[in-house]
Amino acid sequence: MRTIGHFIGGKTVAGGSGRTAPVFDPNTGEVQAEVALASKAEVEAAIQNAAEAQPAWAATNPQRRARVMMKFVQLLNDHMDELAELLASEHGKTVPDAKGDVQRGLEVVEFSIGIPHLLKGEYTDGAGPGIDMYSMRQPLGVVAGITPFNFPAMIPMWKFAPAIASGNAFILKPSERDPSVPMRLAELMMEAGLPAGILNVVNGDKEAVDTVLTDPRVMALGFVGSSSIAEYVYSTAAAHGKRAQCFGGAKNHMIIMPDADMEQAANALIGAGYGSAGERCMAISVAVPVGEQTAETLMKTLVPKVQALKIGLSSDHEADYGPMVTKAALDRVKGYVDLGVEEGAELVVDGRDFKMQGYENGFFMGGCLFNRVTPDMRIYKEEIFGPVLSVVRAQDYEEAVRLPNDHEYGNGVAIFTRDGDAARDFAARVNVGMVGVNVPIPVPLAYYTFGGWKRSGFGDLNQHGPDAVRFYTKTKTVTSRWPSGIKDSAEFVIPTMG
Ligand code: NAD
Repeated sequence: MRTIGHFIGGKTVAGGSGRTAPVFDPNTGEVQAEVALASKAEVEAAIQNAAEAQPAWAATNPQRRARVMMKFVQLLNDHMDELAELLASEHGKTVPDAKGDVQRGLEVVEFSIGIPHLLKGEYTDGAGPGIDMYSMRQPLGVVAGITPFNFPAMIPMWKFAPAIASGNAFILKPSERDPSVPMRLAELMMEAGLPAGILNVVNGDKEAVDTVLTDPRVMALGFVGSSSIAEYVYSTAAAHGKRAQCFGGAKNHMIIMPDADMEQAANALIGAGYGSAGERCMAISVAVPVGEQTAETLMKTLVPKVQALKIGLSSDHEADYGPMVTKAALDRVKGYVDLGVEEGAELVVDGRDFKMQGYENGFFMGGCLFNRVTPDMRIYKEEIFGPVLSVVRAQDYEEAVRLPNDHEYGNGVAIFTRDGDAARDFAARVNVGMVGVNVPIPVPLAYYTFGGWKRSGFGDLNQHGPDAVRFYTKTKTVTSRWPSGIKDSAEFVIPTMG
């Protein structure tokens, strides 16, 4: 059986805790590897390694650090097929979708090549008599990232690329469900010229996370995962004096106005609702047609498309989506579909019994579509994270806007309409972090920032874009006066420039 250890001090090391977790092949349901779960002592060794390596990296000029990122981009492109196949084999998303996962991470690495520009400080010449004032951005030291299973390439890169380009050393604790790609990314960063100890990968579970959260040498951490863990990580990190940004779950609505192009809206719902088996934090899980006529037309267009979804192996490039990540995830999602039926929602398409021929033990699930879901139902309130779409009917636009505004999650939202006034009003009033207008998955590009509101995000500042540099650096402001400007008597009042 293949074993996956850790990446510490520039090399792969075997796990020494004696604790492991299975890594499944979601297509067959078989265990394909065992991943080590780090002990407190192993995580502390990684932190120590990072702390020793970081000062020299911070002293390396920003342009040289950027060149490592440039070379890493080239290596990611060279290894795109290998990374995507490895990713798909542990996660279950299709290889073309896995390429998108790598690509969206790669784009943040490209953004990080330009970080020297964002690290520049400010300067005021002659702020007072003989006085100059300037600010500088300095790295924090050792920082960490704790990442989820659903984007095992993209989200680790969103975290470590800006942090490392800004001069920090990084501890990555990826998901124990698909750890191989993060390990491979660390190897490629070494090949790109990163010094040993600047990027460490510790595989593990709560024990590893708790060590990162409480160790005083870790100055900041970025988390992405479910909301209850995000809240726990945020409050524990804050209690230990750390800077933390923790992104959580989602329930993303798509409003379909009566004037929308119904074919376009239905296609958007199919891709955004069922792509990657719905295991995306930006997946659309609630469709809100406005008005009965819109709802009827939408259902007529949507139902055959859900029935025709092509579910396949993760290696099948023609499949719409592959298996779910684990049996536990599959059972959880099926449990939500059972619950929806009990709660009185109309299950129009039932994918619970789907079996992939020849792969009956794989974690496959057919697409499910609920009609007439209401806001009091648990299947509306809670994140399902599977190939399940709920249709909630709104009588008018105001009722439709209230739905995402009143929901406890606020990650992404979309409106489909031909009416510019409605789109503009919606973008301004909706209480959600990322908004799409005729775009179902509005994931901002690398040079903008990504972040949800309400229970989808705890802490301050977003991921990637300029916020990432602000998050992983601290500002120092220097006031300097050279002897020619210094008076030879003591001053007892607060200095002013007046
Ligand atoms: P998860 O919360 O189970 O795990 C996330 C990370 O936390 C993993 O590294 C895991 O090992 C660790 N963890 C799990 N339990 C822990 C505990 N008790 N104490 C400390 N650490 C713990 O999430 P997941 O299932 O891997 O990912 C799916 C979730 O992530 C969904 O809720 C999805 O919406 C969310 N997500 C959010 C975003 C975003 O940007 N908002 C992006 C992707 C995924």
